[in-house]
Amino acid sequence: MALLELNHVTKNYNSQFCALDNVSFSVDEGEFVSIIGPSGAGKSTLLRCINRMVEIDKGQISIDGVITSSLSKKMLRKLRTKIGMIFQHYNLVDRLTVIENVLHGRLGYKSTLAGIFGKYSQTEKAQAFRIIKILGLEEQVYKRCDQLSGGQKQRVGIARALVQNPKIILCDEPIASLDPNSAKIIMDHLRTICKEMGITVIVNLHQVEAALKYSDRIIGINRGKVVFDGFPENLTPLQ
Ligand code: ADP
Ligand code: ADP
Repeated sequence: MALLELNHVTKNYNSQFCALDNVSFSVDEGEFVSIIGPSGAGKSTLLRCINRMVEIDKGQISIDGVITSSLSKKMLRKLRTKIGMIFQHYNLVDRLTVIENVLHGRLGYKSTLAGIFGKYSQTEKAQAFRIIKILGLEEQVYKRCDQLSGGQKQRVGIARALVQNPKIILCDEPIASLDPNSAKIIMDHLRTICKEMGITVIVNLHQVEAALKYSDRIIGINRGKVVFDGFPENLTPLQ
């Protein structure tokens, strides 16, 4: 069964501008999919529709067999724990430490920050430390996030997503602000997470080379439409 399915999804902004136009595809569990396309193609809108940060106008999205549009607030919160999000600008809380940011992921994204550390059990903290170690951030555990490099910040972002034990990770231009070396480290981690932990990864990328190197499959979008869907080796340049 497909983990994620989009059927004829259309999204209009301001009831007129069509940012996604009749988009359909499905993604299986454990796939590594890159979404490529020029700026303004609709990549970010697509990810936002998947986790319902943005509401679609037509069509249907289902995750793990559940149609997302009809969910109550409570069920939506539950669904979102299955979806990890990673952003270009990391979206960390700068004045908090690495461990605090990572633990914060457990509460699900957009939750409040009150009394962050004391709230968590030893088991939860142990799990957070384990994930921080996997991402090679042991030495940074108690550093504030505003003291980290971009690449380290993005690894914190990945750790924060992983700690909620997601089925799928959506990454919106995760390497767009990084130097090539840090970008490679991030892409390597995402690939490992996908192939060794079995978590489905969907990555928006501007860089075609990274998509070619890391993906099982590439979806190309342009002006809100799917213009390519296939193996990296079959990608044809955008006309
Ligand atoms: P650059 O890599 O310098 O941005 P490219 O000509 O490689 O320039 O690509 C321009 C944009 O078009 C890139 O953002 C890329 O993601 C996108 N692109 C390239 N090929 C395809 C394709 N087959 N389908 C959709 N988008 C594509
Ligand atoms: P990408 O991620 O491929 O750069 P986006 O999904 O960010 O593309 O944007 C797709 C199109 O939708 C762009 O033309 C953008 O200007 C427009 N857009 C994105 N967000 C909004 C919004 N909140 N309101 C109106 N238009 C938007």
